[in-house]
Amino acid sequence: MLSYSKISNPLVKPFKTSFGTQLTRDAIILTYQEGETRAFAEAVTEEAPLYGYEDNFTVIHMINSHLKGIFSPELEPYKFNEKAAAYRGHNMAKGVLEMLLWDINSKREGKPLHKFLGKSKGYADVGVSIGMSTVEDELKTIEQSVKLGYRRIKVKIEKGFNLALLKAIRDRFEDIPISADANQGFTRDDFRLLKKLDQFNLVYLEQPLPLEDINGHALLRKEIKTPICLDESIESVESATNAIEREAVDVINIKPGRVGGLQNSLDIMEKAKENDIKVWIGGMLETGIGRSFNVSLASNTMVNMPGDTSPNFRYFKKDITNETFEMRDGRISPYKGPGIGVTLDYEFFNGIQVEGARLID
Ligand SMILES: [Mg+2]
Repeated sequence: MLSYSKISNPLVKPFKTSFGTQLTRDAIILTYQEGETRAFAEAVTEEAPLYGYEDNFTVIHMINSHLKGIFSPELEPYKFNEKAAAYRGHNMAKGVLEMLLWDINSKREGKPLHKFLGKSKGYADVGVSIGMSTVEDELKTIEQSVKLGYRRIKVKIEKGFNLALLKAIRDRFEDIPISADANQGFTRDDFRLLKKLDQFNLVYLEQPLPLEDINGHALLRKEIKTPICLDESIESVESATNAIEREAVDVINIKPGRVGGLQNSLDIMEKAKENDIKVWIGGMLETGIGRSFNVSLASNTMVNMPGDTSPNFRYFKKDITNETFEMRDGRISPYKGPGIGVTLDYEFFNGIQVEGARLID
């Protein structure tokens, strides 16, 4: 039986980016149940299409009207992708079903997902993404994060951003790896301003221009010294290939739920490796379900930069999974049980469910 639930889980504190401020994580969770086996996956969409064109409503529509017709628990993920290719776009909707198949398949084999995916280090290096705030508040959060052992600190910037903030961070923390994420907030008219970032010795500048503007990123890359990381632009294997071939990118942030799942993520990682492009695994405020997929993938040996797979407590007052991830020495380990290795806290989960239905009997 395949079913979906929409939950609304309160965040520890509002998370502000250039898209707006989030108070809850409104997530679509898929559950597949067959006898004793339960498998799960999470869509990375939100209520509104602010990040990409998909949202929670289009995901439910795509699965219910189209994708469930080609879904079978017997399929291997790549086979599902072949069938799903008939439908244009909607990689977030495809991705959640594809990841569900990875959980089903690895549980059937009795293997933890991180090992089922290929060569695993057995841990993922973790960085942290700091929401926008005042200079003082951000410095305080960064100080705590450095103490906790995070291996990279990422700050959010937007148009008219405060250079003084980055200067204050650099003055206080001379050597820590810092990156800046612009979440598409700039245009080709802002190259002179973005060039000013070179003085801060950032590990990379993430997604300065609109996601469609691969050429713009290639032009910017010639103008500034700071390496360019693409995030939102990487929606599929094809968009990653384009960005690499056009020399628009130094670092790729792979979000499995956005690129259509784990097989596409692995294909992008291979492509990046062949071209000396660094990769890390991003997050989209996932609950413990989506997070467990990300941690499993981030443990792969092809991932060579710290990702945004922070422990759950950073985001949620309480998470929907019984098991939570803990960070030691800036590292998080995937669970040892079969599949994603985490289970649902049904009492809490049912309490925050706002919608749900059976999709396949
Ligand atoms: Mg980003």
